[in-house]
Formats: sequence, C-alpha cells, structure tokens
Amino acid sequence: MDKKFRRNVSVRGSDDFTNIKLAAPLRHAAGLLGIKAAIQHGLKEMGVVRSMRALMNMNQNDGFECPSCAWPDPDKPSRFREFCENGTKALADEATTQHIGSDFFKNNSVEQLSELTDYELNKFGRIVEPLVLRPGKIHYESISWQDAYALIAKELRKLNSPDEAIFYTSGRSSNEAAFLYGMFARAFGTNNMPDCSNMCHESSGVALKETLGIGKGSIKLEDLHNAEVIIVAGQNPGTNHPRMLSALEKCKENGGKIISINPLEESGLVNFRNPQSVKGMLGGGEDLTNIQLPVNINQDIPLIKLIIKKLIDLDSESGTVFDHDFINKYVDGHEALMNGIQEYDSNELLQLTGVDEDKIDEAVQLLASKSKIVVCWAMGLTQHKNGVETIREYINLLLLKGAIGKPNAGTCPVRGHSNVQGDRSVGIMHHVDAGLNDRIKEHLGFTAPDKEGFDTVGAMRAMYEGEGKVFVCLGGNFLMAASDTEYTAVAIQRCNLTVQISTKLNRSHLVTGKAALILPTFGRSEKDMKNGQLRYITVENSMGRVRQSRGLLKPASNRIKSEPELIAELADTYFEGNHSVNWKAMGEDYDLIRQQIDNVIKGFENTSDNSKGSGYYLPNNVRDLDFSKLPNGKAQLTLNSLPDHELQENEFVLMTIRSHDQFNTTIYGLDDRYRGVYNERRVLFMNKQDMKEQELIKMDVVDITSFYDNTKRTAFKFLVIPYNIPKGNLAAYFPETNVLVPYNHFADRSKTPISKSIVVRLVKTKIG
Ligand code: SF4
Repeated sequence: MDKKFRRNVSVRGSDDFTNIKLAAPLRHAAGLLGIKAAIQHGLKEMGVVRSMRALMNMNQNDGFECPSCAWPDPDKPSRFREFCENGTKALADEATTQHIGSDFFKNNSVEQLSELTDYELNKFGRIVEPLVLRPGKIHYESISWQDAYALIAKELRKLNSPDEAIFYTSGRSSNEAAFLYGMFARAFGTNNMPDCSNMCHESSGVALKETLGIGKGSIKLEDLHNAEVIIVAGQNPGTNHPRMLSALEKCKENGGKIISINPLEESGLVNFRNPQSVKGMLGGGEDLTNIQLPVNINQDIPLIKLIIKKLIDLDSESGTVFDHDFINKYVDGHEALMNGIQEYDSNELLQLTGVDEDKIDEAVQLLASKSKIVVCWAMGLTQHKNGVETIREYINLLLLKGAIGKPNAGTCPVRGHSNVQGDRSVGIMHHVDAGLNDRIKEHLGFTAPDKEGFDTVGAMRAMYEGEGKVFVCLGGNFLMAASDTEYTAVAIQRCNLTVQISTKLNRSHLVTGKAALILPTFGRSEKDMKNGQLRYITVENSMGRVRQSRGLLKPASNRIKSEPELIAELADTYFEGNHSVNWKAMGEDYDLIRQQIDNVIKGFENTSDNSKGSGYYLPNNVRDLDFSKLPNGKAQLTLNSLPDHELQENEFVLMTIRSHDQFNTTIYGLDDRYRGVYNERRVLFMNKQDMKEQELIKMDVVDITSFYDNTKRTAFKFLVIPYNIPKGNLAAYFPETNVLVPYNHFADRSKTPISKSIVVRLVKTKIG
C-alpha cells in the first residue's frame, strides 16, 4: 500500500467488553417483550408521531416496503399489523432524527471514529450531505453533488480498462436504482457487479437453477399456510424473518407440522407469541416445532441421505411413499440416485449427523405419509464449501416426494435484505447473459460487455492485487459484510477511489481508498418528490412478487438524493450528456426506468402498469412444472458427496450467527434476548462437555483462531458461554468473526464464503 496515503484506521474497532449480563435463553419469541423492544427503539429514534405515521404505512399496499428483510406481505395487508420488532428497528434506524454532516466530521477524524464499535458508529445517525475524504486527509469535508460526480468521472476516465472499476450492490436498493446502476456499469464497459447475494444465497441460486431451472424459490405465502409439513433448515426466522413465524403459526393451526433442522434450538421456532392475537398475548402462544433435529454443523447431507434411505425402505414395502407418477413424468436421474444412495452406510450417516435416531425416525414417519412439503432455508445451508450440494440434497427429497410445482409444496430460500432478489432480477450480476445484452442493444442502444465480471470474492482479490482501482458501493457495508476482514481492508485501501452510497455511517466509510466519497441517499420511508409529484420505487420479495413502495416521511435533509436520481446524474456527468441513454430523464421520471425494465429484463414485459396495490408475481417455471430448459426437459435429481470435516485434536467447527439486535452488518443494540445474552457481542457459544475438555469455565476469555493455507487468522477476546449446541460445534456473532473466514475458501461453484463452517481452535487468554 502506498504509505503516503495510509491512514491509521482500525479495522477491528473497540473490543472492550461492555458489562455482559446472562439469562436463560427464552422459550418463546415475540409477545409482550417484542412489542416493548419495538416501541423502545421506535420512540427513541423517531418520536411518537413519526413512529405512528411510519408504522401505519409500512408494508401497506399504498405505503412503503419494510427496509429490513424480504419476507412477503399478504396480498391484502391488514392496517396496523404488517410489521414486526425487527422491521420496527430497521425503520427507526433509518428514520432516526439524529443527523451528521461536515461539522461532525470536522470534529471527528476517520482515525478516531474507527476506534469505535460498529454499534456506536451506527448510532450517530443519518448522513445529510455529500462528503469527500481527500487523499492523505483524515477528515471528511463537504462537497457539492456536481463536484462529487466529476471526481468519480475523472477517476473512471483515468482507468486503463473499464474492468478496473467495480460496482457493488447491497440488497437495500430498489429495482429502479439497481437497473440504472447495472446499466451504467455495462455502458461504462464492465460486468464487475458483485452483490450481496454472492455472500448469502448464491449457493441457493446455483443449486435451484441446476435442479429446477430457476434460481429462486417456488412457493407463495399461502402455500406455507396450507403445507402439511414445513422443514425449516439452517434458518432462524424469529430473528431474521420474524413475520415468517405468523406463516408457521397458520400452518400449525391448519394441522401442518414443522421439522426444524439446525444445530441450535432457536426460540422463534420453539414457541411464537403472536402479538396480534389474544392467544399470543394472553395465552401460551403457539408451539411451532414438532420435531427438532439438532444436526451437527454442515451435516445436513448425511441427515437427508439417511432420511431418504429410510423412506426408500418404507416405499419398497408400500410403493406409496414416493410420488412415482411425478418422478416418471418430471424427474431425471432417479435410477442413479437410487443406486448411489445404497453405497452409504446408515450407521455412518447417523454418526455424522449427531442426532438421535429416534428423532430422525419420527421425521421419516411424518414425511412418509405427507406430500405437501415445503423446505425453507437460509445461510445455515448456503455458507459452506458444499452449500450447493447441501441444497440439492434437500431438493432430492422434495422431488422424490413430488413436492414441487404443486400447491402448498416446494422450495423457499428465505432471502435476507429486502430487495436482494429484485436487484438480481433487474440485471445486477457479474455473469454475461447474451439475451440480455441483445435487448440492451435493441432498447438502450449500446453494446454491453461480453466478458464475465468479478463477483464478491473476485472483486476482493482484484482490489488486493491492484487490478481494481475504483470501488463504488450502492448501499451496504462491504468491509464488514465480506469474509476475511483484514484482507478485505487491505484490498479496499489499495483503491484510488471508494464511493459509498449510504444512509448512515459504517466502517466502510472509515477504511477507504486513497480518496473516498459518501453520497447520502433516501431511506425507504422517505418521501421522494420531484416537480411536485410523489415518486415510487418497486421491490421484489422473497417469493418473487413485485410491489410498489412510496415513502411518506420528510427526508433527513434537502441535500440528499434518491438512488435512481444520483446514479442517473453520475452517468450523465460521465457521458457528458452524450450517450444513447437519456440518463437524466430516467433519473427524474422513474416510469421511464420501469418502461426500460419491461423492455430489457425478461419476465417484466408489460408489467409496468401492473405493479400497484398487491403487485404481481414474476414468471416461475417451477410453478408451471416447466423444466424444458434442463437436461431431458426434466427436473434433476443429483448425487452429492458427504462433507469432509476431518478435525484434528482441539479443533472445532464454528458458525457465524446474528444476534436478535442486528440486521446483517447493522447493529441496533447489544442484546440477544432470545439466547439470553445482554449488553455484549463478543461471546462464544460452546457445548458444556467441550468446555470441560478444554478446561474452560463460563466467562473465560479466549482468542479464536483459524489456520488455512499457512495463514493464521485471529478473532480476539471472546467470552465463553455454555450453551445447548452439539459437541464439537461453536457459534459466534457475524461480523466480528468474519476475520476468521479465509477469502479464498468458499462454496464450490457459488463462491459463497464458508462462514458457517470455519475450522477453529481456541486459545485461553484470561480466566473469567
Ligand atoms: S418480517 Fe421482515 S419485512 Fe416483515 S416487517 Fe419484519 S423485518 Fe420487515
């Protein structure tokens, strides 16, 4: 790194302990405690009137979509009811009345700020004017929008090749912003478009595309309500997609059963106290999970193979366990799967799972007699070396049961950020799609590049090697979201210019390229007015439905801009008004963007008038039982190997998890109420027997180390907490433990980091 520009910024921030308090993990989710937490966050950040106005409009047909997760709203939302504790926290976080601008940065250098925790940084509030950090300086200063665009344009023009620029997208953006941004990157000449999907559900996309022909889930919300069995695998909906609990509750009320497959027994899946029902508030709530299978980390493949083996035995007796008509008509690879699975020894599989066989047999009996089965999953399946294979194994189970492409059955990868799926749909991707490029040529009049670009891992490596020089981020906190934090920090610092389009302060504003810009933008809840007209954007939820979103709150400042508008103005500045696309006009009138989305993106044709109210579903071949694009025109059963975790003595497998007071990299608070941890994030959840064997007691302080490719990585200072987690497994919070995840170890084919199965050791540093 060029020493002249190196700033003395901390990548770790403060790791002082914050006076931890422990309690027993809760045996239920939501209820009065959830309401209390939501009200506290809302009132503290927004005040009474602003909170009430915003909440009454969140997830309503004529309101704005929750800026947090991508869980779908019902077609007919009920007034007052379509939000959860975490949605309220996300709203309060963006609609806070705390603001910071150039005065704040005059008094606080990036070096000083970087010593704070991510939680403290987030608390400073909304950024209200464009800011620049000039080379060699440690204080951001104010800059005009036009000068900011000019600076970016100048740096882009200086590059030897368009491929030295990287355009990252987080899942917060709208379809309109993402479409413009993706088209600008292509018009500039690169497909370097990593996005947050690369780090979370890319494995789902790859697995689903290979087996079913579309990289998205197949079910709609109502399918969950009427499913006979829902398998929730590698997912913690109580914290990460809280309103999914209402759907699970409805399924239970309708007689459905729930199987939870996860190393940890999460409170949200034990019992749900629905704050919108008398039973939830005054009664004991609804017990959700019928069968909990506490599988060892990343041993889902052996578990599902064992379940399939047992189902094969039952089917050979009755012939009714599998849907043979469905298999004959729609499925390829049946014989190979049947032969392949016989090679596995049941006892060996059982040992790998770490689960009691009685429990597995209970699940087998349930699955044998049902066919309306949904599998829901999240990063507990995707973020492993074999993430793609793991998901394919679950799809094997669904295909054998004929639980695909029919009502109340199918696949449900539960997406994290609110428009992560939509961003991808409208063209944010590093792959080349020849058909898309043809339509760009036809409708937008320029030739898009035909060379594959960088995904997230590729972008990190390129910046580290000096091949990526300008790094633009549409939202997010790339430094903390990406794996291998120290490596990523070096990579980012080697750029000439880093640009963050952001609402609030985070560590990616402090660990920057030689020069850095912050371009402040609207939150989802804010009123986006132009020429006296209220503009709206659209987003796509986890189940492929596109809906309008209109904000209503006064924007944090009159010096911030909407994402589509600022992207359009940047493009216009770069092309100096001389391009086949009229960027400026599109930035002003989003209907023009939507018309081009209809033209250019397959599946959106003629839908620009149809996105009002409850919205519309994008095409989904699985729902139509159309597998014509797959080999032999059929859905694919697959052969998947067992995971390979040969642990040496004193090694453990660690998974990163989220606390209840965070959403992705945004830390709202320091509590993890469901797991009984208060006022601290530097904790390590550990099996009691493992603690004994390691001679550790509660509150001992350990460093966690990983060792890959001769490189030792360390996450310093974690308090050990005894927890109900399978032996040999550990859990600690993301993003603090990202530092342990080697950037070059990721899922085969999807390149999703192995954040849920990191091999680590512990080094005791202090007696607690
Ligand atoms: S479930 Fe997700 S989208 Fe719905 S209100 Fe909660 S955080 Fe927002």
